[in-house]
Amino acid sequence: MSANGAGLPFLIVGGGIGGLVAAYALARQGFPVTVLEQSAEFREVGAGIQLGPNIFRALEKVGLKDELLIDAWPPGKLEMRDALTGEMVTTIPLGARFMKRFHYPYAVTHRADIHRVYLHACRTHELVTLKPDSRVADFKETDDGVTIWLDEGEQVRGRALIGCDGLWSRIRGKIIADGAPRVSGHIAYRAVLKREEVPEDLWHPDVILWAGPHTHFVHYPLRRGTLYNLVAVFHSNRYVEGWNTRGDPEELWRHFGGQRPEIVRMLERIETWRMWVLCDREPVKDWSRGRVTLLGDAAHPMLQYLAQGACMATEDAVTLADKITATPDDLPAAFKAYQDARYLRTGRVQLMARVYGQFYHAEGVAAELRYHALHDRTPEQAYDGMGWLYDGP
Ligand SMILES: Cc1cc2nc3c(=O)[nH]c(=O)nc-3n(C[C@H](O)[C@H](O)[C@H](O)COP(=O)(O)OP(=O)(O)OC[C@H]3O[C@@H](n4cnc5c(N)ncnc54)[C@H](O)[C@@H]3O)c2cc1C
Repeated sequence: MSANGAGLPFLIVGGGIGGLVAAYALARQGFPVTVLEQSAEFREVGAGIQLGPNIFRALEKVGLKDELLIDAWPPGKLEMRDALTGEMVTTIPLGARFMKRFHYPYAVTHRADIHRVYLHACRTHELVTLKPDSRVADFKETDDGVTIWLDEGEQVRGRALIGCDGLWSRIRGKIIADGAPRVSGHIAYRAVLKREEVPEDLWHPDVILWAGPHTHFVHYPLRRGTLYNLVAVFHSNRYVEGWNTRGDPEELWRHFGGQRPEIVRMLERIETWRMWVLCDREPVKDWSRGRVTLLGDAAHPMLQYLAQGACMATEDAVTLADKITATPDDLPAAFKAYQDARYLRTGRVQLMARVYGQFYHAEGVAAELRYHALHDRTPEQAYDGMGWLYDGP
């Protein structure tokens, strides 16, 4: 081992979407990596997620784009409809015109499917070691590396530490110490149906978003069309914390009961909802300390209204691997270069996601203004509005 820890692996805390893609991106550049995951197995729960063209640009750089697209569903358009009147607010085509503008597709997939692609890439790379059942309690940085303590007391030594431990990151707690995440007051209920459980007249190949006062409801197919994803979001201050817990159907009906029959009929199909209390944080610009940095939700947790959390984590991973490759003997400089390349982009997504949430949930005059702002846009005008996000990084 050299004085700067070069013989040791990079330690990645958290084997979610961000941790695994970071591990693979680093291994491809020839760096050994150990991923420490608290769960007994590397597995992803949850439901569908949308993937903008920017994630595919990043994935092409690590050779995973085509694999991810195998099980993903290619919607033909994004549609926003008024949840009370049924009126079409706007339609954004996602086919040839979209591809011509952005060069990469828009797709929807199951969180488990993207996680599986990343996990398979890691499992088949000889430089990646996956350690389940490894909950990280603490760490200490020295001049030539980092020591991690697991809950059980075991110590793991590495060259540097990348905290990919999500919204409630312990690693962030030590290097930024900005307290608990901000509870937004927005709640998401999610469910996935089999294709045959969706009534024929309600099944739709596109991403449909029903925008209502303080609510929205989204649905789209998943996994080559074999599944159907439903997400119902509403405002409630009843909850302060909760992730993937069972949702209360009565609360759902209080918010969606008077909406369009298509929405009500679709919601009636669900027996069990899973609930997420949606949280984010204020953007920060300094999420690295020496040989320790953060990635994904640990660095910049965001609301889901721009559908970008997994996309941003994937972009982070590619940038991080590039910066480490550029200065492997000066990891603090590499980590600083990585955060400097990322914080304005991720901060913009964090802030704009809040704005989009208000936009989706508008009522009264604000909803009318939304209609007038969006209804007559050409597809190219709509694409230009998303250029800052989909053209990057
Ligand atoms: C309702 C909803 C809809 C969404 N929709 C989209 C979308 O359409 N498009 C999109 O791109 N994104 C979407 N997202 C966001 C996306 O799911 C997340 O941003 C992404 O999964 C973050 O990945 P991560 O790896 O940073 O964190 P996580 O997925 O939270 O992974 C963190 C991992 O760290 C592990 N861990 C935590 N603490 C420790 C510890 N102390 N020791 C060891 N391991 C630990 C956890 O077990 C977990 O495996 C959505 C999110 C929500 C809630």
